[in-house]
Amino acid sequence: MSLILCSHCELPFVPVSRNRVCLACWKENEGYDLTKADEAHVRLASATKDLMDENARLKAANSAANNSTITAELQKKVNELQAQLKSLQSAPSITPDFLKSLIILCHPDKHANSTTATEITKKLIAMRPKK
Ligand SMILES: [Zn+2]
Repeated sequence: MSLILCSHCELPFVPVSRNRVCLACWKENEGYDLTKADEAHVRLASATKDLMDENARLKAANSAANNSTITAELQKKVNELQAQLKSLQSAPSITPDFLKSLIILCHPDKHANSTTATEITKKLIAMRPKK
């Protein structure tokens, strides 16, 4: 797994194929709304970028002193964030149209007003993007 920087926002991401823009930039470019997971992904990518920059700065500063402990800790954090980033990027996203279909399918009217259908429908409605 290797990170590249998005050619649009310059945040790190794991390319799935030959794409050069991150998922969030691609979705914005295609006119899709960003989900909360997408927004979390952007924040995580930004934090990863900060850590990569800090790691590079510390590596340069510590090369003379050969302080490998701090570098190793930062590298561990970068690795953890990269793993989180990869898992967020591979998580399926629920599009507004898909969410609408789920709400229609789960509606309590279609399930004899079952408690479960009511609860799930409420949760799905809460997931709708705020306008
Ligand atoms: Zn981007």
